[in-house]
Amino acid sequence: MNPTSETKSDFLAAPGKMPHLQGSLIDRFGRHVTYLRISVTDRCDFRCVYCMAEDMTFVPRAQLLTLEELAVVAQAFTELGVTKIRITGGEPLIRRNVIKLFRDIGQLPDIKELVVTTNGSQLVRLARDLKDAGVKRINISLDSLDPDKFRRITRVGDLGKVLAGIHSVLDAGFDRIKINAVILKNRNHDEVTDLVRFASDKGMDISFIEEMPLGVIGDHDRAEAYYSSDQIRADLEQTYTLIPTAESTGGPARYYRIMETDTRVGFISPHSHNFCESCNRVRVTCEGRLLLCLGQEHSVDLRHVVRGWPGDMERLKQTIRDSMSIKPKGHEFDLGAKPVILRHMSVTGG
Ligand code: SAM
Ligand code: SF4
Repeated sequence: MNPTSETKSDFLAAPGKMPHLQGSLIDRFGRHVTYLRISVTDRCDFRCVYCMAEDMTFVPRAQLLTLEELAVVAQAFTELGVTKIRITGGEPLIRRNVIKLFRDIGQLPDIKELVVTTNGSQLVRLARDLKDAGVKRINISLDSLDPDKFRRITRVGDLGKVLAGIHSVLDAGFDRIKINAVILKNRNHDEVTDLVRFASDKGMDISFIEEMPLGVIGDHDRAEAYYSSDQIRADLEQTYTLIPTAESTGGPARYYRIMETDTRVGFISPHSHNFCESCNRVRVTCEGRLLLCLGQEHSVDLRHVVRGWPGDMERLKQTIRDSMSIKPKGHEFDLGAKPVILRHMSVTGG
């Protein structure tokens, strides 16, 4: 990453001398873990209907890993071969002083990609700081271009603020900006072409995500709202020529290029095109729980290690290495059944 003018924080232990000889993260199925997603908070200024209930109970602040502890966890992972870290949440950019964490991770010697997923509400304020901290690519969630529909889906979100945030990011000059849209039948499925046009007019990529059954969410009926990636693609093909590409950004999306533009259209399809076989990632929650799979409960408590043995990087790394033996083969999502996974996406770190 580009070093910034800041010096490395004192609280980070000296990086291991020969990180690549200390073993990388390979699970029982031979999958190589190189990608970590960190949820820095479970709180959010929006309440998207597919992600959160209207009334949520959040993790008490004392149970959150501090920004310093999160940086230590990130360092441990990079010394074990992780080269890509995504900061997410909840809404990551509402966590106080979060830019400091970006700067610290951005300076880790083995990190190749530091990226963020955000709802865009804070980007007018923080776009430039993120860029300066070494963030090259940014994902912004945007489910509708209609202020009323946007409000209905996010329950409280202000579309104008998010659009202004997108402009700030465009002005700041990131390498790549991607829009993420969760498409729900009868809520926003009629906007897929408009969303692609919006992205392509601004030189951004866009990914469509199938809703996943994480957490119980009041009266929102997930099976009824399901709108498959194949349906979206068929809708888009009424207007655009989509050319399949083998390109990957290291995540689960399958990409198409829109003929005669630079824009890629991705589909993240946990239901219609399961992507577990090539899974290369794990997640850490804001409480320091290492989740080995988005759709299963297998986890390891890293906060216990970070707080019980402060500064013992080797113990932390060994705990992470050992966790590979419980990474499950894959998720078993079923939109029609009661959610098996009670954590909301905002806790998991989408
Ligand atoms: N608050 C930030 C945002 O919305 O971009 C980051 C966290 S959010 C949990 C990350 C992504 O997960 C968003 O693109 C959101 O649309 C998606 N998401 C949330 N709940 C989901 C669900 N149940 N199924 C599929 N995607 C979901
Ligand atoms: Fe907040 Fe993101 Fe979840 Fe929406 S999807 S409620 S913006 S965490």
